[in-house]
Amino acid sequence: MTQQMTSRERVLAAIQWEEIDQLPVFSKIRGAMAKVISRKINRSFYTDGEAMADAALATWEKLQDDTIHLGGGNVIPFEALGAETIWPDNDYPMFKKPSITSGEDVDKLQIPDPAQDPYMVELIRAIRIVRRKLGKEVIISSGFHGVFNVAGRLLGTENLMLLISRDPKLVHKLCRKITDTLIKYAELLVAEGAEILEVGDATSSPACISPKTYREMVLPYMTETFRGFKKAGAYAMYHPCGGEYPIIDLLSSTEADILDFSELVDLDVAQKIFVRRIAVSGTVNPSQVLFLGTPEEVDQHVKNIIQKLPFKTGTIIAPGCGLSLNIPLANVKAMIDAVRKYGNYLN
Ligand SMILES: [Zn+2]
Repeated sequence: MTQQMTSRERVLAAIQWEEIDQLPVFSKIRGAMAKVISRKINRSFYTDGEAMADAALATWEKLQDDTIHLGGGNVIPFEALGAETIWPDNDYPMFKKPSITSGEDVDKLQIPDPAQDPYMVELIRAIRIVRRKLGKEVIISSGFHGVFNVAGRLLGTENLMLLISRDPKLVHKLCRKITDTLIKYAELLVAEGAEILEVGDATSSPACISPKTYREMVLPYMTETFRGFKKAGAYAMYHPCGGEYPIIDLLSSTEADILDFSELVDLDVAQKIFVRRIAVSGTVNPSQVLFLGTPEEVDQHVKNIIQKLPFKTGTIIAPGCGLSLNIPLANVKAMIDAVRKYGNYLN
């Protein structure tokens, strides 16, 4: 490879396991982007498409990573599904009490219309502004929580864990409706310009449920969700979150295009497992290194990950999980600089 690629070309080639000029890197800056334009994380930020676009663009200017992420992950589609939220002064919303307490509540639950969801209306405004400013050179990504994360917000996570054995039918019924909701929301986002849709789902990780429960109650819905994303025209990026090895052999059946791993998985091992089948990403330690470390420590950590990789494509470097709202931006920049330095394959 002797020619520099655009960000967009680089990401698409990496997903297909084709030759790339350098490894792509995603910052996974989510809400922390608000601080870059001196805004707080609250309802007013997430219902202000212009502010979200400004924050995303200002953050991308600083970081120059390979995607601009505009997501409603911690916000959408909870309220539209009936969750009552409380917004702290500067943080993601919290949930007052479970909005679903019986099978009847599940039966009554309507699949919301994303075009009527006030958070979606503004998210779409933000995507349009960013698309207008940047054209197609940089890929826009968006995304949501996974099916079990959403179910946990609506039922209360503890209750969800109890219902898995006490009333599996109710859990299935709810997962069914959440899956339909996520696909409907995805279709609108893709129509407006989102090209990668990321889904994180800590509640269905091996840290919370057994591989058997995962196979029976999560896998069918996540697979269907990703099929829906792909049918709409997006690439599906799946972050199973938290100690993924016990379910790693099941993950290819989700049909996701990118499997995004926590720091508990070795990226070189993931490459070997999924080589030329599915792209892999993640694994930069989000807490010990990115949050608590120094830029020099970040540089060495990323160098170590990249130098162990047996293959020079099929891979995106990214934090192993969502970043804290107080993440030091200098460390995120150090991660991106390290990828540009150690993951450069131009002759
Ligand atoms: Zn995670």
